[in-house]
Amino acid sequence: MLKQIKEELQARNALLVAVSKTQPPERVMQLYEQGQRVFGENKVQEMAAKHEALPSDILWHFIGHLQTNKVKYIAPFVACIHSVDSLRLLQEIDRQAARCHRVITCLLQFHIAGESTKFGMTLPEAAELLSSPEFKAMQHVKVAGVMGMATFTEDEAQLRREFKQLAAIFRQLKSDFFAGSPDFKELSMGMSGDYPIALEEGSTMVRIGTLLFGDRKL
Ligand SMILES: *Cc1c(COP(=O)(O)O)cnc(C)c1O
Repeated sequence: MLKQIKEELQARNALLVAVSKTQPPERVMQLYEQGQRVFGENKVQEMAAKHEALPSDILWHFIGHLQTNKVKYIAPFVACIHSVDSLRLLQEIDRQAARCHRVITCLLQFHIAGESTKFGMTLPEAAELLSSPEFKAMQHVKVAGVMGMATFTEDEAQLRREFKQLAAIFRQLKSDFFAGSPDFKELSMGMSGDYPIALEEGSTMVRIGTLLFGDRKL
């Protein structure tokens, strides 16, 4: 499965984030041994424990809801945070990254799904964040793009509409706030059930768990 997905993604120049949440370190190692280096986790404690237990050249992407008071536990090593949804959170990431002498790559998470349970900002909220003097003063975060989760549905038209919406948000922010900057380039969208559509709509990072690891026992 890994090889097949990788080939599909390579053809589209997209990155595979292997979502290893709830999987034991041995399962992560199985993919690691097949060459996978980018893994995604959605819980701070779990990611920190796996970072400790597993090879240090793994790039850990945080994809879950992140509480401000927990940023400090992942700031020393996290490669990318996909789930920034407020100025306050970004400020804390900047502060903790500074303490570690790092620059942390972050994505802004948008609410694109019909379901109200999913986290994320609206375009006006993001515009306000990116225009703020607080954001402009930050030196230890790099805002590299956007992330979104589509509705859990098999309705292809709806999925496509939601991915198109995120791609439009990406383009709007790029032209309004990052014109001429090569750093703003990531469109993190697509999971096991919907990633082929996400790729067609321009995804540069897909976050796949179930297809690689099998069903999660929760
Ligand atoms: C769990 C999770 C995924 C992966 O979901 P699968 O359906 O198992 O591929 C992707 N993104 C986020 C934010 C997740 O929490």
